[in-house]
Amino acid sequence: MKNGQIANVDLIKQVNSAAVYRLVDLQGPISRVKIAEVSQLAPASVTKITRQLIAHGLIKEVAQQASTGGRRAISLTTEKSKFHFVAAKIGRRLLTLSLYDLSGNELAGVQLPIQVTEQDQLVEFLCQTLEEFLQQYTSKSQKIIAIAVTLSGLVNPQTGVVLYTPRYKMKDCPLAEIIAKRFDLPAYVGNDTRAMALAEHYFGASSDCADSILISIHHGTGSGIMSRGQVFLGSNRNVGEIGHIQINPLGKRCHCGNYGCLETVVSNEAIIDQVKHYLSEGRASCLSDQEVDINSICQAANKGDALAISVLSNVGKYLGQAIAIMVNLFNPEKILIAGEIMAAEQVLLPAIKQCVEHQSLPSFHANLPIIAAQFQKQPTMGGFALVKRALLDGSLLQLIMETSTAQR
Ligand SMILES: [Zn+2]
Repeated sequence: MKNGQIANVDLIKQVNSAAVYRLVDLQGPISRVKIAEVSQLAPASVTKITRQLIAHGLIKEVAQQASTGGRRAISLTTEKSKFHFVAAKIGRRLLTLSLYDLSGNELAGVQLPIQVTEQDQLVEFLCQTLEEFLQQYTSKSQKIIAIAVTLSGLVNPQTGVVLYTPRYKMKDCPLAEIIAKRFDLPAYVGNDTRAMALAEHYFGASSDCADSILISIHHGTGSGIMSRGQVFLGSNRNVGEIGHIQINPLGKRCHCGNYGCLETVVSNEAIIDQVKHYLSEGRASCLSDQEVDINSICQAANKGDALAISVLSNVGKYLGQAIAIMVNLFNPEKILIAGEIMAAEQVLLPAIKQCVEHQSLPSFHANLPIIAAQFQKQPTMGGFALVKRALLDGSLLQLIMETSTAQR
């Protein structure tokens, strides 16, 4: 009973600290009076919490000219440049690591080819690369607050257990725990597409809305759904497998075992296969069989090549069908699309939009922007978003306050 009460008091403290930190982060520079007003916390609590956050260097005072002139008012902002963390993205072929500060400055970055194929080898390769990266680019005096990793596949974002990823034969791998133990740092692991949807919401193309959907087309097709500013999660903490919506019952067999999934026609490999198939039939095109990749297909489409345009319009049509279903189900304020095929967005987007207009509720698609995602060339932004979320929800904030000694 006593323990329960203590836990409860701690939890309330953590929730209140997080609420104050969030306000300072989102609305700062902000005065203590305003924080009390917006958070509805007692002014004395706000004073106490802000004193603690300042003592741990998480927020700082800045003098602001009062709008009425006269006395300079003291406001609070978050301290961003002193806290650093590593964000990693495990891709299909490349491991990308970035050292960031909390304002989003990339202080260092490396990209290495991944030559392993099995879970244990991958985990070891990741940890060794992280170790060398930290040795090379950070110093003892630097405040490293976390390591975040994103990868494709099914991940439990709460526990950081990778439930399944076909690429490296990973199954029930407690990746966050392994990293946390090895580096003695908080570690976060998440699905890359869901993490990128969160990154776009925090810092990118969907930062102006609470409900948005990011569709990512690469080796497969996936999505991340933002609902009321949070990643929408299903029962096993994963949702948004748009790639396995059936769009053609007579279509090809998908790796999931079903037939005619979106992914069998909308993925980089599937698009390249389609173009190669038409070329082998002798269709006219500026593309030659040897140089077919997504980039050359997009360039050809942009130059008016009929074959490339026809394939990409068809891709847009299928994507549009699946997106229309998402629009009907989730009524988002914005749809973001990420993938190399967006290099031909003037061909792709009209085809998508036409489908969405014909297959979703008029009031849902009226004024619905369908646009390119912002962080297509920054794969580690997803990891950044995981760290930001842990700070804003209070869990990482609490760990920082527990492990750092307060300075006065
Ligand atoms: Zn499938």
